[in-house]
Amino acid sequence: MEIAIISGKGGTGKSSISAAFATLDGEVVLVDCDVDAANLYLLFNPVHEEESIYVSGHKAVIDYDLCTSCGLCMNYCRFDAISEESGRIIISEISCDGCFLCSRICPETAINMVPSDKSMMYSGSFRNGRMVYGRLAPGEENSGKLVNVVREKAKQTAGKYGLDTIILDGPPGIGCPVISTITGVDKVVVVTEPTISGLSDMERAIEVVQKFNIPAYVIINKYDLNQAMSRQIEEWCSRNNVTVAGMLPFDRQITEAMIEAKSIIEFNPESEISKKIKIIWNRIVNQ
Ligand code: SF4
Ligand code: SF4
Repeated sequence: MEIAIISGKGGTGKSSISAAFATLDGEVVLVDCDVDAANLYLLFNPVHEEESIYVSGHKAVIDYDLCTSCGLCMNYCRFDAISEESGRIIISEISCDGCFLCSRICPETAINMVPSDKSMMYSGSFRNGRMVYGRLAPGEENSGKLVNVVREKAKQTAGKYGLDTIILDGPPGIGCPVISTITGVDKVVVVTEPTISGLSDMERAIEVVQKFNIPAYVIINKYDLNQAMSRQIEEWCSRNNVTVAGMLPFDRQITEAMIEAKSIIEFNPESEISKKIKIIWNRIVNQ
């Protein structure tokens, strides 16, 4: 079973909950799909067994032996990636979109398109199973494609090691990498918090999930910080046939666990919050 944990935005506690789910009992494949800002590896310190380069696109590079500084490429680049400094034409690696246009129009054929090869995919073991994650290099595009690559590796890993559960910690938002994270999964968990923006971000996330006809479950994290808003979220879910899998109170032990590089389940398995997380997980898996 593949279960994706997402949130309409960052900072809802999604990764802490993913980490808790990943350490509840039997071994799992844990996948960090937040390729722009992967962080679960910091918590679980996996042993890397495989590393592979992910080519996310191409970047334009000038051959200064051929360039005459005519400026034509600068006039054509629609991404403002090309500028001139003291008579020298310069291409910004961060701004270049890899569209190939400048390399095609340069009269001196002075621009080469080189593969962007600084993004990586890692797989290996962690203390409760296998872990797969990707890291997109700063300024590189196609995070959705890297998520697809990471997910494919996770599926192969699950097959190879005979593991039934794949837990996908998704990126924040509702963009392309989130779509790549939830496509084809069995269930999606949306973690929200009791604020007005939490409610509207959750609504947008659930709209996306429902377009794919995937069962959605909501967890209201830190529900006790605003019980009236938590009730509003519950009511919205009830009106829209979305299951609230559970509500978790604010608990400083979550942060204390993170500081010790542990999930809350590892940090204090007998705590009330750990018990609630176990109940929520069982509800999601068995419903
Ligand atoms: S178009 Fe070619 S020759 Fe002209 S400035 Fe650009 S790289 Fe140099
Ligand atoms: S490849 Fe496209 S985006 Fe990159 S510098 Fe050339 S024209 Fe600009």
